[in-house]
Amino acid sequence: MSIHLPHLPIAVVGAGVSGLSCAILLQEAGAQVTILSKAPTHQTTSAKAAAIWFPFEAQPQDRVNAWSLRSWQIFEQLSAQPETGVSFLELVELCENPTPVPWWHLAAPSYRRLLPEERPPQIADAFAISVPLTETPRYLPYLQQRFLQAGGHLHIAHLSDLTSLFPRYRLVVHCAGLGAKQLAQDPSLFPIRGHILKVRCHEPITRAWTHPDPPLAYIIPRSQDCILGGTAEKDRDDLIPDPHTTQTILSHCRDILSSLDRIEILEEDVGLRPGRPTVRLEAEPTAQGTILHNYGHGGAGFTLSWGCAEEILQLAHQHLQHHKETP
Ligand SMILES: Cc1cc2nc3c(=O)[nH]c(=O)nc-3n(C[C@H](O)[C@H](O)[C@H](O)COP(=O)(O)OP(=O)(O)OC[C@H]3O[C@@H](n4cnc5c(N)ncnc54)[C@H](O)[C@@H]3O)c2cc1C
Repeated sequence: MSIHLPHLPIAVVGAGVSGLSCAILLQEAGAQVTILSKAPTHQTTSAKAAAIWFPFEAQPQDRVNAWSLRSWQIFEQLSAQPETGVSFLELVELCENPTPVPWWHLAAPSYRRLLPEERPPQIADAFAISVPLTETPRYLPYLQQRFLQAGGHLHIAHLSDLTSLFPRYRLVVHCAGLGAKQLAQDPSLFPIRGHILKVRCHEPITRAWTHPDPPLAYIIPRSQDCILGGTAEKDRDDLIPDPHTTQTILSHCRDILSSLDRIEILEEDVGLRPGRPTVRLEAEPTAQGTILHNYGHGGAGFTLSWGCAEEILQLAHQHLQHHKETP
């Protein structure tokens, strides 16, 4: 069903991957969308992500599976356009122990268990999947440009209250990531601190690697650099990279790929994933107007982005229908 929201003024709060994806679908459906964000896109958590398709630290399982599958399908379409920065690569997941297939494997069409002879000797189990990789230095500008070209507006504004956006806007779509802790007064949000290294490798790396059990380690090759990770420290929110953690990441990644002995560190960085027991995607009617919440995507904001954005579009449509029918 194609949705039309002719000239409906909508505010989208947040210019990370969640806000931009929602804003694009709403604007392309005919709404007049303004993104309001306290920071430009390149200063958001989204800009720090690797960012590979992988449903990490996000719940609930049934909705995450559906959103992830839908995002996958859209990333597949985008990968046909090189300017989007979306491509596919093989990801190998290494497991210390024999491991049941993960709950999200149905959302990953090409998921397969590696044969014993295909995996490194010290590894008890391993899986391979072809996954979308969104290279954030190209993908986020692509999203922003697509939104602006469709006629959307973007303003830098630090908000302290969502309801003050009514009645100027008929709907507010709330995608503030960890900022929702204050904006929605949501105490269930918590940071999941991620430390990463951007490195230049002297030997080409053709696959991505992850060891999701502790100690967490991942290697994600991109066109201009390679991301080595990482950490997932719950409730820790300092943004200063710790030299000891840098050495630990290097050591764990070299255990996976010995060619990482010869690399140059370009940057050390820390980002805070917006953790929540479950993603909050729902409509909240308030006395001033309806807020559509879309935050708390944990370590999977890119993986869930298009599936969540489509559900926001449907909620916006339902809202409009309801208000047409009720005088
Ligand atoms: C190291 C690391 C690696 C990751 N790797 C992956 C990966 O491989 N795959 C994946 O899918 N995900 C990954 N993630 C997770 C992903 O980055 C997040 O889930 C995603 O960025 C969340 O996006 P968002 O748009 O919801 O929030 P954000 O990107 O945090 O954006 C929030 C927006 O809200 C704005 N805002 C906040 N408060 C206010 C306010 N008061 N007023 C106005 N604006 C406000 C901010 O300025 C910002 O624009 C990773 C994260 C980290 C840190």
